[in-house]
Amino acid sequence: MELLKKKIREEGIVLSDQVLKVDSFLNHQIDPSLMQEIGRTFANRFRESGITKIVTIESSGIAPAVMAGLELGVPVIFARKRKSLTLQDDLYTEKVYSFTKKEESEVSISRKLITPDDRVLLIDDFLANGEAALAMARIVEQASAKVAGIGIVIEKAFQNGSSKLQEIGYRVESLARVSSLNKGYVEFAD
Ligand code: 5GP
Repeated sequence: MELLKKKIREEGIVLSDQVLKVDSFLNHQIDPSLMQEIGRTFANRFRESGITKIVTIESSGIAPAVMAGLELGVPVIFARKRKSLTLQDDLYTEKVYSFTKKEESEVSISRKLITPDDRVLLIDDFLANGEAALAMARIVEQASAKVAGIGIVIEKAFQNGSSKLQEIGYRVESLARVSSLNKGYVEFAD
């Protein structure tokens, strides 16, 4: 997606050869018109996949997921990282190792929200080693529903998440594929 790559080139900050910061449009401040375009692009790529629900993880997956949900006309569920008074029992819960925080946490979704007939599109902001996507996929599978695809805003193609997910048989669609973050510069794979 050229618009996204342009935005990354202009505003992305390379924190190390492993981590890209995009707080000006995705991870802190959000660019609504870019998110709308991202939602349209995801919707176009998965329009024929019979998606009935979108699942993401709070918080940075929510904006692109909502825009895709609006385009596809399906509900969006975000897995929650903390249990709260309103989210206590009847949960599907999975562990997820956070790439950026370097710690394990749990994500949960109410059992009421996913049913066995659902065809779920997983959406996330970044793909690194695939831990977040795999945790979402395990939740969908716990519910006996189907993972119909995985949509990623920024894939770091030099890490192994995409190959891990594709080896399992998931279709992965990334809107920007970063091939390296060397010397402060972002290079794209295609
Ligand atoms: P994975 O679970 O695939 O190893 O890592 C993906 C998750 O870690 C995403 O949900 C995202 O929040 C975070 N993440 C991974 N790499 C980066 C990065 O380079 N920049 C930012 N901002 N987040 C990242």
